[in-house]
Amino acid sequence: MTNYPLPNFNFDYPKFINSDERNLDNWQSTDEHEYRDYPINKTTEFPGWGNPWPDLPDPDVNNDDFSIDTINLRKRRYPCGRGGVLGYYMSWHIVGVSFRNEHGREPYDGIELKRYNDELPEENRHGIHLCCNTIESYVDCLNTNGIDQREINAYKEYCTYLMMIYVIAHEWGHYRSEVLSFQIANVCESVTGDKNSPIAPSYLTYFMFKKLYPQTNFEEVFAEWAALKVGVFNYQMKRPRFTIPVANWPVVEAIVKRMLSDAIHRSARPRPYRDIGRWVDFEKLTGDEVLSRISAGRKSHNQSVDSASKIRDVKSFKKGKMIDLLMHNQLQFNPRRSYNRVIKSAPSRYPIEPDSVFYHIGYDECSATPPITEGSKFQVRIGEPEFNSIHQQNASRILKVLNDLRVSGRKPVTLPISVMHDILPLDPVYVHV
Ligand SMILES: [Zn+2]
Repeated sequence: MTNYPLPNFNFDYPKFINSDERNLDNWQSTDEHEYRDYPINKTTEFPGWGNPWPDLPDPDVNNDDFSIDTINLRKRRYPCGRGGVLGYYMSWHIVGVSFRNEHGREPYDGIELKRYNDELPEENRHGIHLCCNTIESYVDCLNTNGIDQREINAYKEYCTYLMMIYVIAHEWGHYRSEVLSFQIANVCESVTGDKNSPIAPSYLTYFMFKKLYPQTNFEEVFAEWAALKVGVFNYQMKRPRFTIPVANWPVVEAIVKRMLSDAIHRSARPRPYRDIGRWVDFEKLTGDEVLSRISAGRKSHNQSVDSASKIRDVKSFKKGKMIDLLMHNQLQFNPRRSYNRVIKSAPSRYPIEPDSVFYHIGYDECSATPPITEGSKFQVRIGEPEFNSIHQQNASRILKVLNDLRVSGRKPVTLPISVMHDILPLDPVYVHV
């Protein structure tokens, strides 16, 4: 049995400090260019497949009434049923809080908490959740004008596939953030020798702060970045099979990825999601050079998201990575620090002396893409959908895409995205039909 970690239950109700006006000399600003929608060229060569995508639904559940004291995951909530939500990540800490609220005590160990988790309704269990109906309805709204009649199914299947990958990789970004909190706690423990070290920041306070100020939350930028890096532009990612051959497929594939990227940073998108446009140079990411690397299947396209990320231009994070910024933020949620130094989604301001534990180690699991090892618990797997006869028909396209990704006889489908199994194991993605 794997050793599931115990969450850090320390929690302070976060107080908001208006950081824009204070301690400005502790910050430096980067170029704060206005949001731009880049002109889309070159798509006329592929009528239809290059049609712009509609505005994206949110990749998260927004719960305005969120409060730590009242979390009760025994109750069924059907987050996907509310519509307009592509997916969500249920954190291990929140499962722990639900346990504590129910039992009036903390779990004895991770095994007890895992048992509790496995008895919860499926939609409330720790992990990545995918809302198929939202994806299906979104893809149904795509404009197929100009596409050869014979290719329309292939087009919709590919867009469904890309949306699935986008959502899973976004939610993985939230998982990565929670893993990071355990890594920080482990470092603090090794320094102080104390399991509940007072120098360890509180993930729950950080989490609550995120919920209180969702519009400027940097973690969403990180999750969108992950969606691009380990998802949409992941070189090792599987490709779906089509029943009919699509002419010029490699070029078409690159064009469709570009159309999704355009929807991701479109100025009409709500904050903080559209703020990814401040951190990634989309003109570069979806420029001809990168697209030709994708269409030629060149391995160098693995680096494309890194090299289009804009943090390297900032002195204080010269060797820093997106995950260092996230870590800096988590470290602020400790009684000894103030939230004044929290990095927001935009404008891109950085503390001159950022706090980071791994800053000098320079290693993170976001940079390496593992080749697929089928069934590996060290990689993200997609679970079997829970069949529901009413919704089954609607989700037929997702089921087909999942089946096409499956290696003969094997289930679940494995993706080339790392799971930090030794720190926080992750069950296969919950697919809500
Ligand atoms: Zn999110």
